[in-house]
Amino acid sequence: MKFKMNQPELSSFIKEEAHKLGFDLVGLAQAGPFEETQARLLEHIEQGRIAGLAWFNAERARFSCDPANLLPGVRSIISLGMSYLNEAVEPEVIPGRPRGKVARYAWGQDYHTVLKARMEKLFERLKAHTGQTEARLLVDTARIVDRSAAQRAGLGFWGKNTNLINRRFGSYFFLAEILTDLELEYDPPAWGTCGRCTRCLDACPTEAIVEPWAVHNDRCISYLTIELKGAIPLELRPGMGQWVFGCDICQEVCPYNKKALLGQHAEFQPASPDDAAPDLLAWLRMTETEETFRPAFRGTPLLRPKRAGLRRNVAVALGNAGDPATLPDLQAALAAEPDPTVREHLEWAINRITAAQAE
Ligand code: SF4
Repeated sequence: MKFKMNQPELSSFIKEEAHKLGFDLVGLAQAGPFEETQARLLEHIEQGRIAGLAWFNAERARFSCDPANLLPGVRSIISLGMSYLNEAVEPEVIPGRPRGKVARYAWGQDYHTVLKARMEKLFERLKAHTGQTEARLLVDTARIVDRSAAQRAGLGFWGKNTNLINRRFGSYFFLAEILTDLELEYDPPAWGTCGRCTRCLDACPTEAIVEPWAVHNDRCISYLTIELKGAIPLELRPGMGQWVFGCDICQEVCPYNKKALLGQHAEFQPASPDDAAPDLLAWLRMTETEETFRPAFRGTPLLRPKRAGLRRNVAVALGNAGDPATLPDLQAALAAEPDPTVREHLEWAINRITAAQAE
């Protein structure tokens, strides 16, 4: 059955239904091109700051800055946010078993699946009320500039670390969008400021935030541990510490996150403390072969760097942990490892630990 609703009623309906489905944030924006964002992205590309992502070129930037490229006739963007901030995890400390670090967003289930399922329900409810069929449902795709859309829809302002910051939820939230040809009542863009704070710039161990609002992506630990194929540059390895998948440093130091509300979504809780702070020697074993790797990480975002990428990251984290008790496992892993890139990282870890021991 279709109901006649005016724009304000329809807009309120969308927000209520989105909240009922568990979205913490919902805002509505007009779907015109993002000209300022396009100019900024083109400048970043020209300056080589997105060099690590060869596919994100000027053509892609122009495409992603106009939602009409994704849905001809689009009028509105329903911008959705879901917090993934959980209680801190306190893993057991076991001598000789150093732990790695996984970025918070990957502690639980794959957010693409979780958000997409809820967006589909939201769209079904919208369709039932309006008869509308033209829409695109997007979760974390570079085919739209999702942070700019969310800023326009009032969800958050740009922090100097380039994350979007919401005054209640900080920056630990996932974004998703529904593009629709419906006319809606729009929210004002988000406004906010970092003031004189530069904590994220000062804290980044690889100096990836080269100036406020500008991250050099091929220095960023998130890029190095997830997107980068092949060898991690030697000069950046020590700064990576024990991060094996992603990095939260520029968010952890942010004052807005210190007072952020905790998310209430069980899907993003780690099933065990090991999912947030893995036992590195256990992960060294779990990444030995495709047969050990796939079942261990199925259904999680940790499949993204693939077996060789994750094993390479574990080797760097073990090297940085510097615990001589891990040397026999590293040496055994090296003896059995066929992949030349992984071998080189295992050797680096062994050399780093033995050099520190000699000192
Ligand atoms: Fe802005 Fe400070 Fe947060 Fe960085 S740490 S995003 S400068 S408030």
